[in-house]
Amino acid sequence: MAVRKAASDFAWEGVGRLPYKEADGVPFKAISRQTLFSDPRLSGELRYFEIEPGGFSTLERHAHMHGVIILRGGGQCLVGAEIHALSPYDLVTIEPWTWHQFRAGRQEPLGFLCLVNSERDKPQLPSTEELAVLRANPAVARFFDES
Ligand code: MN
Repeated sequence: MAVRKAASDFAWEGVGRLPYKEADGVPFKAISRQTLFSDPRLSGELRYFEIEPGGFSTLERHAHMHGVIILRGGGQCLVGAEIHALSPYDLVTIEPWTWHQFRAGRQEPLGFLCLVNSERDKPQLPSTEELAVLRANPAVARFFDES
């Protein structure tokens, strides 16, 4: 299908809205995933994620990169040791092996496109020690405690 029309409210024809991750024991809250482009002839995939107000993605890192474009609402992201406020059309580059997490604002969702390699490694979660190192930064600790 060459064109799949946009429906209202960040939905598209023929695209299912899926739970974010199926794996057990991976911490995240109130987030859905729609795969917009995925084809064996493409090296990348483009997904649309939406985090409900107060929700957040998994804190993780991995060898593959992300290119993220904010489309809806607002919130914050942690990238490495930096916290950034997010607004529509902001671009976020997640370098390899960089800790990252996205959070919606309390009153608004956070919707974004995420570009990734089709073939990619499995994300790592922080160990207790790694989490303690991240939390030693007061701004990062505040970001975690906002949930
Ligand atoms: Mn990731």
